[in-house]
Amino acid sequence: MNKKSQKKKSTPAKLLKFEEMTWKQIDALDRKKTIFFLPISPLEEHGPHLPIGTDILTAQVAANEAIKWLQYKRPELTYVLLPPVPVGFCKFNTDFPGSVSVSGRVVKDIVYSYCSSLGNHGFKFVVICTYHMAIGHLKGIYAGMKKAMKAYDMQICEPWGPYFYHNEVEKREPKLGFDTSKEVHAGFRETSLMKYQYPYLVDESYKTLQSIYRDLTSPKVLGKSFKQLGLKDGYVGSPARADADYGRWFFSETVNVYAKAALALYDGKPLPTLPKKTQALMHSLFWQ
Ligand SMILES: [Zn+2]
Repeated sequence: MNKKSQKKKSTPAKLLKFEEMTWKQIDALDRKKTIFFLPISPLEEHGPHLPIGTDILTAQVAANEAIKWLQYKRPELTYVLLPPVPVGFCKFNTDFPGSVSVSGRVVKDIVYSYCSSLGNHGFKFVVICTYHMAIGHLKGIYAGMKKAMKAYDMQICEPWGPYFYHNEVEKREPKLGFDTSKEVHAGFRETSLMKYQYPYLVDESYKTLQSIYRDLTSPKVLGKSFKQLGLKDGYVGSPARADADYGRWFFSETVNVYAKAALALYDGKPLPTLPKKTQALMHSLFWQ
């Protein structure tokens, strides 16, 4: 191996973190070849066994991993990770300490402000990375994206909502022998994910938690809080089944979804969209 190739191998591209850069360094980026990643999700209770930052930690780490993969796959482009924004709409479980909910309008304003601040300086591409799938939260994200794309020549997308609401996970996951469609919040999936990604943040009590199921999409439960629905521990699903191997698979799905969306955005390919039914529900919902 000659000296040149040795050097190339030992210096992988640096991960650019927005908050660590000067305005001069940001100004020096190629407007047409830079993709920004914005992790945004609320702090909210995730059962008695997972941390309140489950969603924002996952979105941040998955965005980080997606960037590493992209740096290897498409080194000619530049990727910047924006700092995680621990904000979102989760009013339905604020009857637990630790949940912090803001109005969907605030989410809209934050998404618009980040995107417009970049668009104002000629930047074009932003991937919104959220792990929180409440419709009131997505309504804010999509409204902020739409407003920014109307005001600036930008391409912005949020890829996890389409993956989630098209039930991609159930179509793609390994066969498990139980009905995973009922794993809604802090259940099998999220507990597996955290066991893989942050095992030291998972309380061992998860092993003794009983399975609890509720259909949170039913019109009968709309507007009700978790405790009003009898969810006294704040989870829906079967955390005791958690498995770190599944967590690894699920995490890699997220990384893939973020990375593929970034490339589709840049290459001008069709972007993932929410199902019509979800879009209609989002539009029918009042700002809260
Ligand atoms: Zn979550």
